[in-house]
Parts: sequence; structure tokens; C-alpha cells
Amino acid sequence: MTERFTGSFTQQEPIPEEGIEAALAVLRHGRLHRYNTAPGETAETALLEQEFAELVGAKYCLAVASGGYALGCALRAVGVKPGDRVLTNAFTLAPVPGAIAALGAEPVFVGVTESLTIDLADLAEKVCDPRAKVLMLSHMRGHLCDMDRLMKICTAAGVTVIEDCAHTMGAAWDGVPSGRHGRVGCYSTQTYKHANSGEGGLLVTDDEEVAARAIILSGSYMLYERHLAAPGPEVFERVKYHTPNVSGRMDNLRAAILRPQLRALEGQVARWNARYALVEDGLRGVPGLTVIERDPRGRFVGSSIQFLLLDWAPSRVRTVLERCAARGVELKWFGGGEPVGFTSRYDSWRYVEAPPMPLTDRVLRGIVDMRLPLTFSEDDCALIARIIRAEVGAVYQS
Ligand SMILES: *Cc1c(COP(=O)(O)O)cnc(C)c1O
Repeated sequence: MTERFTGSFTQQEPIPEEGIEAALAVLRHGRLHRYNTAPGETAETALLEQEFAELVGAKYCLAVASGGYALGCALRAVGVKPGDRVLTNAFTLAPVPGAIAALGAEPVFVGVTESLTIDLADLAEKVCDPRAKVLMLSHMRGHLCDMDRLMKICTAAGVTVIEDCAHTMGAAWDGVPSGRHGRVGCYSTQTYKHANSGEGGLLVTDDEEVAARAIILSGSYMLYERHLAAPGPEVFERVKYHTPNVSGRMDNLRAAILRPQLRALEGQVARWNARYALVEDGLRGVPGLTVIERDPRGRFVGSSIQFLLLDWAPSRVRTVLERCAARGVELKWFGGGEPVGFTSRYDSWRYVEAPPMPLTDRVLRGIVDMRLPLTFSEDDCALIARIIRAEVGAVYQS
């Protein structure tokens, strides 16, 4: 009998009851706007910011409308101007170069290694460009590079680091939460990330002026004193007349949904990683398939898994994808000629003039990617691994 998987790769868990109750309370009182508070009331959004700052050990936190908004806001808050170059990963997703391009700045792509992390040798060369003063580092699919080395390279070159932690909320490098190495950390609470408010984002920093500028940028209408994870009013006095309003606030409904999820994050990370380990173990030792080894200094969140079919002919990779799909296993491939869903590549973003990167192309052509939603049971994960194992093996031998 041929085993088939019947679960959905896009189905997340329901919102916890506590979050539903909190959301209903907001709907019942009607004060959804973060600055619409009754006398003596503290908005859900302000509480969320305070709690997230505490969770990652940051001085300041701002909740915003999306992860992509957080990235753009961070770029503006650290002073990126039109025409500036911003270094970023060649292996990332469209909102990252998009945030840079939206400012009129120019993305400069840095390569990816077989560990799926940023190529630090390539970075060390590219930080020498005097027009590139910022690195927007995308911890793509939760693969953390050697953050100590990366920060050394960037600090020595005077390059400011903004971290895109869309896939690393709950992760850490050497005990330091992801998003806390650079000047700013940006997170997404969009449905497919590690906390789900439909859309949403969070930004953290210890830099008081960056925090004040980000809050004004997000559309605080000079009501910044209602923030709990913000610098004092004297800092806002310094920046408020020089910072435009680029509205992108979070609202109290989403904040209410998120607060209980953040309290449960630790436990969710353990559940994700148990599922990840089962799939990873099931894929070990398959000829032609490379499992991505993780640096033990990094604590990751296994909400998705990647493996490499390195140097395979494209037609054979496509056959693997088709055979797995026929058995209910949805794999995505970063090697296709056209972007499909989220699998776009640096050469799909044709608004950027990007020179070819042969070493990076070789890795991208091999990357196969799969979501691991928490609605999958551990038995599901073992089954999925058996299916991939069998199909990769069959194509490899044919
Ligand atoms: C999802 C995502 C973002 C942006 O998040 P949105 O909330 O969808 O705007 C940024 N970077 C990466 C790598 C992502 O996957």
C-alpha cells in the first residue's frame, strides 16, 4: 500500500481561547485604535509592546501593521535615504528587498552558503562599499549565521545591522534572542509566522532615538506618552519635528490576540522543534539529499524545514516535487525559473540591478522547502519524512 498524507500545509492552529476572549472584550468596548483609551485604561497594544520588550530583553518595542512595515520603518529610523545602498540576503523573501526599494534605496545582495546562511566572506567584501552603511540581515527560514563574526565584520566597517526576524521569533544565538544583536530587530505576526494576528509586526531596539523616530513614523500623532516601551519625552522633543508620519500602527484587536500567544511561545517552540527533529531524522542518509546542519550555538524554531538536492538536473527536482505532491506532500523549490508563491529569488526582483552570483545560484537551485504547521502531529511528520525519503530515493536511482 502506498502511504498518502492528507493534512494541510497552510492550516495553523486556532487562536487560543484566552486570545479569543480578549479580542471579544476589545470588540465589545469598541476602542480598537491604540490611542483610543478610556480614562485610566492601558491599551492592549501598549501592553503587548511592554511584554514583547521584556520577552526579548529590549529597552523599547513598537507594534506595527506588518513585518514588512517594521522593516521599512527600521530603515527610515536608522536614517536610510533614497539612493543609499542597503546590503541584504540574496536568499530571502520579497518583502525584504521590497522594503529597501520602497525607500528609493538600492538593495545589494549578499550570497548564501550551503548552510543557508549569509555568506560572511561575501559580506566582508561588500561592507567595504562606502555607499552601503546598513545591512538588512534576513534570518531566512530560521537559519542563523555566526552572529559574533557577522557583528564583528559590520561593526568594523561601521555598518548598522537591522535584523529581519520573521522566521526567528523565539530563536537565539549563543543565548541572545534573535533580533538583539543588531541595532533593530523586526518580527512579523502574519498568519504563517510564529504568532498569528493575521497581519502584524513588532520592532525592538535599545537605541532611544531610533525608538522615538519609529514611534513617530508609525503614526503616533504626538500621543507617544501613551507608550510603555518607549523612551522619555525629551527624546521625542529632539526628533518629532523632523520625522514624517508614515502610518502603520497596530490596533488593539490584534494586540489582544497576540498577548496570550507570546506567553505560550516557549512551549510552541518545543512543539515545532519536536516535529522538525522527526522530519530531519527521517531524511538523514538519503543518497543525493543534503540535510542542513545547524550550528549548535543557534537555537532555532523548526516551523519549516529545508533540504538540498544539490546539483540535480531541474527536471529531476521537478519529478521529486510532482511525486511528493501526488502523495499529499507539498514541497516548494527555490530553483524554478519563475517565482511560485513565496519562492522568489534575487533574480526575480527585476527592479534591482543584481549581478549574477554563481555560487548562490547553485545553492538556490538546490533548495527544497516545506512548512511544518503545528496542526501536524508527530506521526504526520514521520509519515511525511517516509514519503520524501521514498520519492527522492526513487528519482535518484532512476
Ligand atoms: C513574512 C516575511 C516578512 C514580512 O512579513 P509581513 O508581515 O508579511 O509583511 C519579512 N521577511 C521574511 C523573510 C518573511 O518571511
